[in-house]
Amino acid sequence: MKAIRILPDRLARRIAAGEVIERPASVVKELVENSLDADATRISVEVRDGGRSMIRVVDTGHGIEPDQVELAFERFATSKVDESSDLVGIATLGFRGEALPSIASVSTVDISSQVVGAPVGVRRVFEFGETKVREQVGLPAGTSITVRDLFRNVPARLKFLSSAGAELARVHQVIVSYALARPEVSFRLVSDESERLSTSGRGKLIEAVGSLYGARIAEAMLELPGPGPAAPSAPSAAFVVTGLVGAPTVSRGNRNYTILSVNGRWIQNRRLSFAIEQAYHGFLADRRFPIAVIQIRVPSGDIDVNVHPAKTEVRFLREQIVFAELQRSVRAALLDLSPVPGVTRIAPVRGWSERSERPAATTPNPLWPDPLAATPLGQMRSSQPGEALSADGPDGETRATAPSVDAPDGVAPTPQRALPVMRVIGQTQDTYIIAEGPDGVYLIDQHAAHERVLFEEIGERVARHASESQQLLAPETVELEPHQEEVLARHGELLKDVGYTIEPFGPRAVLVRAVPKVLGRESASQGLLGLLDSLAEGGSPGDWREHLITSLACHASVTAGRRMSTDESRELVRRLEETQQPHTCPHGRPTMIHLSAASLAREFGRR
Ligand code: ADP
Ligand code: MG
Repeated sequence: MKAIRILPDRLARRIAAGEVIERPASVVKELVENSLDADATRISVEVRDGGRSMIRVVDTGHGIEPDQVELAFERFATSKVDESSDLVGIATLGFRGEALPSIASVSTVDISSQVVGAPVGVRRVFEFGETKVREQVGLPAGTSITVRDLFRNVPARLKFLSSAGAELARVHQVIVSYALARPEVSFRLVSDESERLSTSGRGKLIEAVGSLYGARIAEAMLELPGPGPAAPSAPSAAFVVTGLVGAPTVSRGNRNYTILSVNGRWIQNRRLSFAIEQAYHGFLADRRFPIAVIQIRVPSGDIDVNVHPAKTEVRFLREQIVFAELQRSVRAALLDLSPVPGVTRIAPVRGWSERSERPAATTPNPLWPDPLAATPLGQMRSSQPGEALSADGPDGETRATAPSVDAPDGVAPTPQRALPVMRVIGQTQDTYIIAEGPDGVYLIDQHAAHERVLFEEIGERVARHASESQQLLAPETVELEPHQEEVLARHGELLKDVGYTIEPFGPRAVLVRAVPKVLGRESASQGLLGLLDSLAEGGSPGDWREHLITSLACHASVTAGRRMSTDESRELVRRLEETQQPHTCPHGRPTMIHLSAASLAREFGRR
C-alpha cells in the first residue's frame, strides 16, 4: 500500500484551479467579476483564438495598491470578506480569493494596475505561478490583466478545449450575460481584432438588449409589470423581479437567450429557467425558447452563493417565492401586453414592380415570428400582383415610427390588452377574415384562429375530464405501422382523455368505436393515424398532453382555402375574442395582423 502524503503546494494549486478555471470563458468570467467588484464603469475584453492563446480584460475600476498585487495572487487572498464574515449576505461577486491564483497557476499572467489618483502603477508577470517581472508603470487608473498560454502546463485540460469558435461562443455568452445583468457598465468584446459587441453602459436595459440582440428584438420586448399585489409586509415584497421578455414572435431555438441575474450576479438555474419556459406555455411552438432578461433582487441573506467554486449556481433560501414571482410576472407581461403584429406600412398599389426594388418591402414584419421569417412567406406576400399589403422589416423606411432603443424604457409597439371587439367585414382569398376594430382593420388567419379556439376549448374540457366524443355508427378498423403501435401503447390513456374509444383488434390493428367530437366527419382512421404520427415526432417529454391537444386542434381546424360564410366568420371571431391568448396559435404563429388607423392615414397622406 502507498503511504498517504500531503500534496506539494504547486500540484495542490493546479488541482484546485481546475474547479474554478475550466476553459477560457471561466477566466473571462472571473476577471470580469473582479472588474465589476472594483466598480469599473467600462470593461473591455479581448481574446485571440477563442481565448486559447490570449485573453485580456481591461477595466476602469479602483485598481490594486502596489504592495498588494502579489498578495492578490496568493490562494484565499481577498479584500472582499474578512474573519468576521459568516458568508451570509455577500454583496460582492467574488469572495473566495481563488480566481487570480488559480488562473496564474495554469497560465502566464501579465497584470498592470494603478489606483485612482496614484502617480504610478505596477506591473507583474507570473509564469505558471512564478513571478518573472516586477516593475513600475504609468497607466490610466484601473486594471489590465492579460492571460496567455492557458493550460500549457495541464495537457489533459488543453485536450478538452473545443475549437476556437466554440470557445469564443462561450466567452461571448459570458459577456452578453453580464452586459445584460449590469446595463450600467459599458462592455466591449473584441475577438481576433474585430469587435463582436459593445454596450453603452448608460443603464437602460432595453438599450443593452438592442445593442446585443439587435433592434428587431428590442422592439419586441415586453417589460415585466413589476411587483404583484403582495402586501409590503409579505415576504414576497422583498423579492423583486424586473426585466424584459420577448413577445412570442421572437423566440429562439435554444436556451442561450434566457439570462438570469440575482442581485447583479449572472446565474444559471434550471428551475428558474423552467419557470420562465412554463410561463410561455401555449405561446411558443415546440422546441422554441423565449428571449428573456430577468433581474431578480432578493434580500442578500436569502441566497447562498458559496455552492460551487465557479459561483454560477446559487441556492435560494425561499426558492418557491422566487419561482412563483418570476412565473407570475412573466405570465402577466405576456397576457397583458401581447402585441398584435402591426403592419407598419402599406405598399402603394401603383406599380408593384417598384416594390420589388425595395428590399424593405420583402422583409417580414418585425413582429412576424422567426419560423415564418425563414420561409418564403414574406416574399410571397409582397410579390403577388395586386396585393396591397406588405410588411416592413427592421430596416424598413418607417423605422422612425418604431420605438427607438433609446426611448425611455420603450418596449413593445402598441401593447394592447386582450382583443378589441371586432366587426367582421368579410373573407379574402378564402383564408383570411377581414374585420374592423376601434383602431383600424384586422386580418385574421382563419386556420390559426380556429386552432387557438379549439386548443383552449379542448384543453379546458380535458382538464375537466369532460371531453366530448362521438360514437361511430359502425366501428372502424385501423391498421397501424409499428411506430404508431408503439405510440398508442404509450399514450393510449391520453387518447382516451380527448375522446377516443379504441380497442385492440388483432396484430397491428385497432378498432375505433368513438372519436373526439371536434373531429366531426373526418374519417376515424385518418384522424387517428395523423395524431399518432405527430405524437411519434415527439414533443418534449412531459407535455405529451399539450402536444396531443395541439395536434388535435390543428386536425380539427378549418383549413386555409375554405370559403366561410359571414356568420361562420363572425362565430369564429367571437370565439377567438373569448380565448386567453388570442394573438397566437398554439404553434406560436400570429392569428392576426393589425392595420392601424394611423398607418392607414399616413399611407394615404392624410397626415
Ligand atoms: P476574490 O475576487 O474572490 O476576492 P480574486 O482572486 O479574484 O479573489 O481576487 C483577489 C483580490 O484581488 C480581490 O479581492 C481584489 O482585492 C483584487 N482584485 C482582483 N482583480 C481586481 C481588479 N480588476 N480591480 C481591483 N482589484 C482587483
Ligand atoms: Mg474574483
